[in-house]
Amino acid sequence: NYQEKPCYKIILNHSFDGFLDALEQEGIARDRKICIVTDTNVAKLYLNEVTEICKNAFPVVEYFVFDAGESSKNMATVEKLYEYLIKRHFDRKDLLLALGGGVVGDLTGFAAATYLRGIDFIQMPTTLLSQVDSSIGGKTGVDFLQYKNMVGAFYMPRMVYINIHSLLSLPNLQFASGMGEIIKHGLIRDASYYQWLKDHQAAIQAHDEDILEEMVYGSCLIKKNVVETDPKEQGIRAYLNFGHTIGHAIEKMSDFSLYHGQCVAIGMHSGAYLSFKRGHITKDQYEDILAMIQGFDLPVSVSDYDAGEILANTKSDKKMVGDKIKFIVLEKIGQAAIDMTFSDQELLEGIQVLLTDE
Ligand code: NAD
Ligand code: ZN
Repeated sequence: NYQEKPCYKIILNHSFDGFLDALEQEGIARDRKICIVTDTNVAKLYLNEVTEICKNAFPVVEYFVFDAGESSKNMATVEKLYEYLIKRHFDRKDLLLALGGGVVGDLTGFAAATYLRGIDFIQMPTTLLSQVDSSIGGKTGVDFLQYKNMVGAFYMPRMVYINIHSLLSLPNLQFASGMGEIIKHGLIRDASYYQWLKDHQAAIQAHDEDILEEMVYGSCLIKKNVVETDPKEQGIRAYLNFGHTIGHAIEKMSDFSLYHGQCVAIGMHSGAYLSFKRGHITKDQYEDILAMIQGFDLPVSVSDYDAGEILANTKSDKKMVGDKIKFIVLEKIGQAAIDMTFSDQELLEGIQVLLTDE
């Protein structure tokens, strides 16, 4: 357990049981209504348990369940949630609890930010990706038209409560997807954490709960440190986009059939390659990064894509300054930098390695 400055704590535990104690410790009032927001998959697994726990403390416990998946992360679902809350007379002092992955967290956070101009919410992230990434940093929002995260708000939860044990029910691909962001955190910010991941790969892959706790804790610390240093993404928060510039393009081109972390892994391959080409890291280090990514069951290449098309999609992404791509490179393992000097030719070369590698 550690302090998340300035205003909320991230609590790690191995069950949901400590939730009420955590509320008490944080001075979060319980004499009010709570609405648990979750998706259909997570509801089957954990809604009963969390509801029962909440009933021991809150006078009214409601729940709102929507269809699992990114396709629910939109204004239509938010509007249904508003309506649900209005019908049950939720007011300013009441509370939302986001129980689920990043989709639930982003959507609930946005609803909390906007309902009655803002009510309290708590993040209870249940995917690896949401535990180490989306629940931290205060970005909330939904997709709009064909644009991802187009409408949203910076809005902080009152607390992030992480039950490590909930990771054990995650499908392997979802677990690997979260590992993409975790490897990224080491690469951009903390060489010793990166080394720790390497040293504990077997235990992580075997889902040893104590090792998972240490890993999630370390990764949260890195994300927290970056977003606290640069809350509104004017500087180093952009490092978190390592692997994302090209990754997003591939994610879009796959029509989201590839998971986010898989695309980030592929994008990190380009990032690592271009960092090597620029002489920042050695060939050995570049190859070591590839081995590391693959060791966590993540891809480093794509088939059936056209390099030019990937570049075009990369350039249509929102992370552009004028016509220059704000590309994130590694200056060394554990240290990222923004580089806007890449020519299309160089970027194409960085994309080509994704297609030629097996
Ligand atoms: P998700 O919420 O869709 O969860 C993935 C799948 O796992 C879903 O089917 C879900 O029902 C299921 N699931 C959740 N917890 C489970 C558990 N414990 N056991 C079994 N199944 C479980 O997706 P995600 O990968 O958690 O998050 C992706 C979303 O997060 C995207 O919308 C992305 O834009 C967003 N995101 C936001 C930020 C941010 O800063 N706010 C950062 C990164 C990603
Ligand atoms: Zn990401």
